[in-house]
Amino acid sequence: MSELASLTTAWYDVNARDLPWRAPEIGAWPVLISEFMLQQTPVVRVLPVWREWVARWPAPADLAAEDSGEAIRAWGRLGYPRRAMRLHACATALVERHGGEVPRRLDQMLALPGVGDYTARAVLAFAYGQRHPVVDTNVRRVAARAVSGLADAGAATTPADLTLVESLLPQNVAAAARASAAFMELGAVLCTARTPRCGDCPLRERCAWRRSGAALPAGPSRKPQRYAGTDRQVRGLLLAVLRQAAGPVPKPALDVVWPDQVQRERALDSLLADGLVVPRGERFSLPGRVPADL
Ligand code: SF4
Repeated sequence: MSELASLTTAWYDVNARDLPWRAPEIGAWPVLISEFMLQQTPVVRVLPVWREWVARWPAPADLAAEDSGEAIRAWGRLGYPRRAMRLHACATALVERHGGEVPRRLDQMLALPGVGDYTARAVLAFAYGQRHPVVDTNVRRVAARAVSGLADAGAATTPADLTLVESLLPQNVAAAARASAAFMELGAVLCTARTPRCGDCPLRERCAWRRSGAALPAGPSRKPQRYAGTDRQVRGLLLAVLRQAAGPVPKPALDVVWPDQVQRERALDSLLADGLVVPRGERFSLPGRVPADL
């Protein structure tokens, strides 16, 4: 099995994208920030925001010292802004529980706010060079094709996925950590959902799915998520007004962003329920302290 890892790692050694969170000695906190941001946002959009965050908040204590509203403001247009609040809560927990350091134990990582199975193992592997099965959608797809001969993986990560990917890793700890990064890269760059580039793939002679000669099922593997016209879009527009404002804004300044009152109110209510927006009398703002003169 680990032949797949060695082939993939040899390919990665030559072809890995030069991403700043992969720099040696970058530190666990910048890696953790990158993993939060990359959960639902493509690399190209994450890059500028990640650079801003790392420069502004080089350690968890720097972020924890600010209001969560500043994290939401600095999240910009990455989308799914609850991640900004969770990352702020995570920074606070790192300060309170771990002296401002990212822990090196899986159980401690999993106990942090906003850190799930994938993120915990990714940070331990990529920042600390530990041996863990790091299983995201891309890795599950590579394993499903190369090992199981299936066109795609199931809808959600299962314990069996972790076991399968773990079985692909070399026993050597450093080699395993690098193989984890390599499998992720292969899935992101070559073994994509709709147009796998099997001719360029280092696993092409070993891949069970390719050897089977099967074709991809017709149609998209997953329904593309609609954005235009959704409550997500309206939430984004409302938050953009608050991010750009120095202090609380009156309701009419929010009302102009979207014509449908019912949908607009629903979006605002959900932002209030999530704690991304707070009421200030007749006005609204991001959470946190408000200067007395605003
Ligand atoms: S040969 Fe094709 S299907 Fe198999 S792992 Fe490589 S890119 Fe994916």
